[in-house]
Amino acid sequence: MSILDPTISIVIPIHNEAEVLPEFLDKKLLPEIEKIKNYKIEVIFVDDGSTDKSAEILENYTEKSRKFKLISLSRNFGKEPALSAGLKYAKGAAVITIDADGQQPPELIPKFIEKWENGAEIVTGVRDRFTKHGFVQKTGSKLFYWMLRKMGNKHTVPGSTDFRLIDRTVVDEFNKLSEHNRITRGLIDWLGFKQEYIKYTYGARLAGKPSYNMSKLFHLAIDSFVSMSTTPLVIFGYIGAIITVLSFLLGIFVIVQQYILGDPLGLYWNGAVQMAIFITFLVGLVLISQAISALYISHIHAEAQGRPLYIVDKKKSKNL
Ligand code: UDP
Ligand code: MG
Repeated sequence: MSILDPTISIVIPIHNEAEVLPEFLDKKLLPEIEKIKNYKIEVIFVDDGSTDKSAEILENYTEKSRKFKLISLSRNFGKEPALSAGLKYAKGAAVITIDADGQQPPELIPKFIEKWENGAEIVTGVRDRFTKHGFVQKTGSKLFYWMLRKMGNKHTVPGSTDFRLIDRTVVDEFNKLSEHNRITRGLIDWLGFKQEYIKYTYGARLAGKPSYNMSKLFHLAIDSFVSMSTTPLVIFGYIGAIITVLSFLLGIFVIVQQYILGDPLGLYWNGAVQMAIFITFLVGLVLISQAISALYISHIHAEAQGRPLYIVDKKKSKNL
């Protein structure tokens, strides 16, 4: 290796992963990195406000070698801002982002690099199955990608993950983006550039629990379309959704009960009742659409505040 070798940065967002970190780093990631001969490697840990022993573990690595860098965020900002922080500090000619939980196989890193050497500016890991999750998550995930596509992110391939390699030119463009409510993969797809994909099997976590639960995922989905949720508005949206669904079902019930089956229950619901059901349905729709426009407004509000996306704790950060 010479000093002239270009650097490849590996960015790892970390939130309470003490249980998996040693195994992931020592058994999986570092052995793979050792095999890379033509590049200098820097490993950037972004400690996203961990409250377990993660920070301690990471600090130990930074003391062992200067190739390990630690960005310590002042609190938990979420995976997306953590990734953005890592991309900002990464100096490499290419940056690889990977989760700390071992679900994304580091063995594929050489393949990512190979595609990059052959001209790809973005190489994205696409997971080849949706198992491990229940029906709701599976459907939710499909719906998420369907909506992303419908909303203009035409190029987002379903199953694409944040296990990816990004060329310096793309990283520089990404760092210029200023929006707060971000889904890294959506933004990177939006940027364009020459993108290639690598399929991989999404493993189980080495240990620990995913920090994303159903409600977090749901919020993430909403965030990527509109914004941070402002609870009262969202509640009205939910009420609207419930009213719409219930009155819709009631409408179906009337049609089937009264008109198809000939009123076997003997309810004799007249036109006024049917009209009331129909109007309730419309009120539900109005509530939903109001909540959606309110979300857009709150998004504008958040952007207008112009707060930074994350705060780095300089004292706790190492080797930067
Ligand atoms: N993560 C983070 N901040 C958070 C939540 C998660 O930096 O607020 C990190 C986490 O430590 C892991 C990666 O993001 O390295 C993916 O998180 P997780 O495994 O919980 O999510 P999933 O696998 O469901 O995408
Ligand atoms: Mg995970």
